[in-house]
Amino acid sequence: MTPTDYIWMNGRFVKWDDATIHVCSHVVHYGSSVFEGMRVYKTNNGPAAFRLKEHTKRLFDSARIYRMDIPFTPDQINQAILDTVGINGLDECYVRPIAFRGFHRLGVDPTGCPIDVAVAAWPWGKYLSEEEMQRKGVCVSSWHRIAPNTMPAMAKAGANYMNSQLIKLEAIAHGYVEGIALDVFGHVSEGSGENLFLVRKKALITPDFSASILPGITRSSVIQMAEDMGLKVIEQNVPREALYLAEEVFFTGSAVEIEPITKIDGIVIGDGRPGPITTKLRTEFFDIVRGKARDRYGWLTPVPAYKEVTV
Ligand code: PMP
Repeated sequence: MTPTDYIWMNGRFVKWDDATIHVCSHVVHYGSSVFEGMRVYKTNNGPAAFRLKEHTKRLFDSARIYRMDIPFTPDQINQAILDTVGINGLDECYVRPIAFRGFHRLGVDPTGCPIDVAVAAWPWGKYLSEEEMQRKGVCVSSWHRIAPNTMPAMAKAGANYMNSQLIKLEAIAHGYVEGIALDVFGHVSEGSGENLFLVRKKALITPDFSASILPGITRSSVIQMAEDMGLKVIEQNVPREALYLAEEVFFTGSAVEIEPITKIDGIVIGDGRPGPITTKLRTEFFDIVRGKARDRYGWLTPVPAYKEVTV
């Protein structure tokens, strides 16, 4: 992780090293955070944030589910994100806005704990190595995704990533790059930090929201592009074995972007190479986010040069 100069914390910039919290903060003990992960891409017209408003909206949606009142407006958070990229002089980066229950007193009841908000940004290249994805592939995890009515999967909450860590660490321990979790009913859900798509007979198939998935913003972007390309998109329950029979499988996510999966549990998918539909969607995606194709969906927000230093 490459540190940058400043982190936005509760309305002002602090130096990267000073962006600290108390060990008795509620979040440290009870996992009470909601967060986002998004990318800013380099374009010929300067840096551009990908789907800024949608990410901020999901942050507020996650907070609503957990009865957390973020003490800023969505517009203020949008501005904080753009300022954090600007003040650090980044032309391409990953951005992590987070809201969490801070320090007041311990005990499960968070009443009285402040909702602290921070935005960090740093350069982050590829999330999964393409070479490793080809050589090692991914596995279906023995850990299931969180069950409905236990932890809400539609909230991007820090605590959900305890489940993700089990999936990821097991996959690595067994020699794979990433794990795909089934939901508690045995249907395919998602990766530890990615949504999943299958291609079969020119249709794109992806688990629906009832399969304990995070409503991915890259997922919705891929669905939009695919429909415009004339592909049929089906959101439905996916049985595990459909993974092995698919012509193509790929992950989507802000970190992973669009990543082909060519081997699952040691079984080669299709002909073992990134398939034509995955490649077409991926090319289109990168052309749009890097400003090489017209931003026809209005996905990009230019990052203005940051002027005022308030530190
Ligand atoms: N599922 C999980 C569990 C994730 O952590 C992510 C990454 N945010 C995704 C799916 C993909 O969502 P998005 O495309 O919005 O990044």
